[in-house]
Amino acid sequence: MAKPHDPSKDNPETRRARLILSLRSQGVSDPGVLAALEQTPRELFTPDLFMERAWEDSALPIACGQTISQPFIVGLMTQALTLEPRCRVLEIGTGSGYQTAVLSRLSRLVYTVERYRTLLGEAEQRFKALGLGNVITRFGDGAEGWPEQAPFDRILVTAAAPGEPKALLAQLKPSGVLVAPVGRGPVQALKRYAGDGEGGFREEVLCDVRFVPLLEGVAREL
Ligand code: SAH
Repeated sequence: MAKPHDPSKDNPETRRARLILSLRSQGVSDPGVLAALEQTPRELFTPDLFMERAWEDSALPIACGQTISQPFIVGLMTQALTLEPRCRVLEIGTGSGYQTAVLSRLSRLVYTVERYRTLLGEAEQRFKALGLGNVITRFGDGAEGWPEQAPFDRILVTAAAPGEPKALLAQLKPSGVLVAPVGRGPVQALKRYAGDGEGGFREEVLCDVRFVPLLEGVAREL
């Protein structure tokens, strides 16, 4: 009798193609976003221990007790930003740098802030290895945004904000878009704030998500 097919034995190209198809069937329909996900080598951002799972649709542990986001969520958040090639984007929570790399393929400049030096250092090496010349990094407390570079066309927060991210909304252009998980519990609401051009925002809840919390200040440990 033929053995049942074991997807974990497939080669990386097959796994990657399967993941992209699955993201499309789940609602990531923007061709630019799908191409950026396909072209970003997630295995470069995945710890060695989990290499076999780099093209699975799941979040995975990285150093400092943090996670590399689930590809579906990366696709959904990137799509919700409605990026244009001229956009200057602020990302809070560099983590592995995977989401940053996806953003960098779809925008002019990406400013990214991380509160762990170790994670930031590793992410910077990956950006260099991939030749991503439009990513600008900063070690600091992302909850404060990046006032010197504000205002931004788009802002993406990849850690859960306890409430409405007011300081960040203040750094958004009047017709900009901010996407962030909002909530204090283990499950948060993924929210999209779209500027109305007059200082107000249209707020929309996209789905439930599970993110690590946006913490105050920079980490004392590496
Ligand atoms: N986008 C990342 C996901 C990282 S998880 C990826 O694709 O890998 C969220 C990250 O936000 C963690 O690295 C965490 O350290 C960082 N973070 C949490 N609070 C922060 C803050 N106040 N300022 C900057 N980064 C923060």
